[in-house]
Amino acid sequence: MNPIRIELPTPFDVGSVNAFLFTEPEPVLVDTGVHSDENWAALVAGLNANGVALTDLRRIVITHPHVDHCGEAGPLAEASGAQVWVSEVAQRWLADPAHMWQRRVDYYAHHFLPFTGLPEPAFQAVVGSMRRAAETAVPVPRHRLTTFPLDGTLQMGGLPWQVLHMPGHSDYQTCFYQPDTRQFLAADMLLAKTPTPIVERPLDDTLTRIPALPKFMRSLDLVEALDIETVYPGHGDIFTNHRALIAQQRQRIVARKEECFRLVRNGRYTIAQLTEEMYSHIPLRFRFSGLWMLVGYLDLLQAEGAVTEQLRDGIWHYIPANQ
Ligand SMILES: [Zn+2]
Repeated sequence: MNPIRIELPTPFDVGSVNAFLFTEPEPVLVDTGVHSDENWAALVAGLNANGVALTDLRRIVITHPHVDHCGEAGPLAEASGAQVWVSEVAQRWLADPAHMWQRRVDYYAHHFLPFTGLPEPAFQAVVGSMRRAAETAVPVPRHRLTTFPLDGTLQMGGLPWQVLHMPGHSDYQTCFYQPDTRQFLAADMLLAKTPTPIVERPLDDTLTRIPALPKFMRSLDLVEALDIETVYPGHGDIFTNHRALIAQQRQRIVARKEECFRLVRNGRYTIAQLTEEMYSHIPLRFRFSGLWMLVGYLDLLQAEGAVTEQLRDGIWHYIPANQ
């Protein structure tokens, strides 16, 4: 059977988020939406419209531990008795979100944002957005959690779905691919609008930042190579022709990277200056999404050897390689 889309409201600028339901041979839900009354009502209505009562749910599969996708997993598991399945790398974000979010916010506040040169209001807006997201993260009781390996297979809708680790938007993102029906549950890997390559807190204690957009580009290559008929994305309508979308997004990324490089060559050396040039149209509370893209372009430029990162007066400067 095909995954059934249930569109759920979020308070974020991304708009709505999709959960996908399999009703046969047992009810399985992929992703849950945010933790809110509005989401709960929409989710229960969506299940009921497909003949599924809350208590019928057997499994809740989580694609990645972002609050718009996994926010309702804990309450839903408690109310339904369903088991929450999540990849081994994302498990801690569901079991102990307060700890993981604190580590992420601390990293931004002390080891990332100070080097960007962002002025105080923009700095605080990023930290504030993260704190607000963290507040909606509800833990899933450990006895309700089941982890799957990154090279595993999940049974959904009576068919085996391959787990595919797709870092870039999130280091902890998994997509699911069904080769016989050529269906792809894409999470936030393939969206109409390019997903942001979110800066993750590095796992080791050196706190050396790990480039996210280069990872996303490698994941795009992997998805492009798959034989896919239908894409079930984490946001927006179900679509086909994934390679056209990927080609278009690559073009856009290269164009914006070149734009960034022109600004660097014209003396805009810091993340703060470049964000101001490229993303001042985004309201401050959502500016972090532009920030992630910009850092991504700089990472690509560094990987190509076009710019080098230099610490000057405690702020990262991106200097054209020939200067
Ligand atoms: Zn999302």
